[in-house]
Amino acid sequence: MNTKEKIKVGILGATGSVGQKFIALLANHPWFEISELAASEKSSGKKYKDTVNWIIPNELPKEIGVMKIKNCTPNLNCKLVFSGLDSSVAGEIEKDFAQNGYTVISNSKNHRMDENVPLLIPEVNPEHLELIKHQKFNGGAIVTNPNCSTIGLTIALKPLLDNFGIESVNVVTMQAISGGGIEVMKSDVVKNNVIPFISGEEGKMETEPLKILGEFNSNKISFANFSISAQCNRVFVFDGHTECVQIKLKKKNTTKEIINIWENFKSIPQIKDLPSAPKQVIHYYEDENLPQPKYQCDIDKGMAVSIGRLRTDNLFDFKFVVLSHNTIRGAAGGAILCAELMHINSLL
Ligand code: NAP
Repeated sequence: MNTKEKIKVGILGATGSVGQKFIALLANHPWFEISELAASEKSSGKKYKDTVNWIIPNELPKEIGVMKIKNCTPNLNCKLVFSGLDSSVAGEIEKDFAQNGYTVISNSKNHRMDENVPLLIPEVNPEHLELIKHQKFNGGAIVTNPNCSTIGLTIALKPLLDNFGIESVNVVTMQAISGGGIEVMKSDVVKNNVIPFISGEEGKMETEPLKILGEFNSNKISFANFSISAQCNRVFVFDGHTECVQIKLKKKNTTKEIINIWENFKSIPQIKDLPSAPKQVIHYYEDENLPQPKYQCDIDKGMAVSIGRLRTDNLFDFKFVVLSHNTIRGAAGGAILCAELMHINSLL
C-alpha cells in the first residue's frame, strides 16, 4: 500500500495516556494515518500541542501538534476510530459513532461483554471477528480490546488451554501507574506506594479471559469453562503490568513442555507478518530475576509478553510471572493490531 492509499483514522480521547500512545505508534504506520483528534469539550477547539500533557518519551510529531482537537461527535473525516475514551463517556460515544457508520476499536470496558462485540486478541481469538457480522449498527461496528492485565494473562493461558486444558487460575497483579490514566499519574498518592485496589479490575480479569478463550459456534461465543481468582494492585512503576500466576491444568506435564509450547506459540499476526505484530509472541526468560518492567516491557515493540519463573506449586500445579506493556500491548498497540487484522480480512 503506498502513502496515498493510507486509511484515515481518528483518535477519540486523543489527549489521554492511551490516546497519546496511539499517536506515537501511528506516527509512521504503513497502512493508517491520523486525520482527526477528538477529546472532551475542555480540549476541543484547541491545538493539540497547547492542551496535551505529553507524557511519551518520543517527541510529539509536529504535524500532530498543530492539529485542532474536535468534539467526539460522529462527523470526523475518517471511517475508523480508535477510542481511548474515559469509560464514563465511552459507552454512548462509541455507540453513536458505530451507528453513524464508523468502525470503532475501543480500549474501554463498556462494550467488551456485549454479545455481538468481539473482545479481541489477534493471536488468541481472531475467529471472533465474525461476530461483527451480527451487529446492527447501520454499517458501523464495535470491536474491543481487552483490559490491559487481561491481555498478558490470556496470551500466557492460550497455549496452555489448547495443549493441556485448564482447571483453575489464581493471579495477583502489580500494575503500573500509566494504567490509571493521566490523573492517577499526576497524583501524589501513587508515589512510593502500593494501592491494593483498582476499581472493577478484578472482575474484568475473572471474566474477560473466559470470553476471549471461548469457542465461537454458530454466531455466538461459549465461554471457556474454568475459574479465575484475581487480586489487583497499583504499584509505583511507570509502564508494565506484572502478574504472578498459579495454574491447575487438566493434563499433567513438565515445565520443559510448557516453556516449549510458549516459545513456539504463534498465530495469524505472525504468519501474515502484520506491521504491529511481535515477531515472537511469548519470550520466556530462564534467569530467575526476570521478567522486570524496567528491562522487558518494551521487548518486540512493546507487543510481546514476557514470562519467567515457571516452577511447580504446592497448591496449584505450576506458578509463573507474566509481564506485558499496558499502554502498548495492553491498549493502543493491541488495538492497532486488531485494526490490521480487520484490514487483511477486508473488514475496514
Ligand atoms: P485518561 O488518560 O484519563 O484519558 C481519558 C481521555 O478521555 C482523555 O483524552 C479525555 O479528554 C477524554 N474524555 C474524558 N471525558 C470526556 C468527555 N466527556 N468527552 C470526550 N472525551 C472525554 O485515560 P487512559 O488511561 O488513556 O484510558 C482511556 C481508556 O482506556 C479507559 O477506558 C481505560 O480504562 C482504558 N485503558 C487504559 C489502559 C492504560 O494502560 N492506561 C489500558 C487499557 C485500557 P480531555 O483531556 O479533553 O479531558
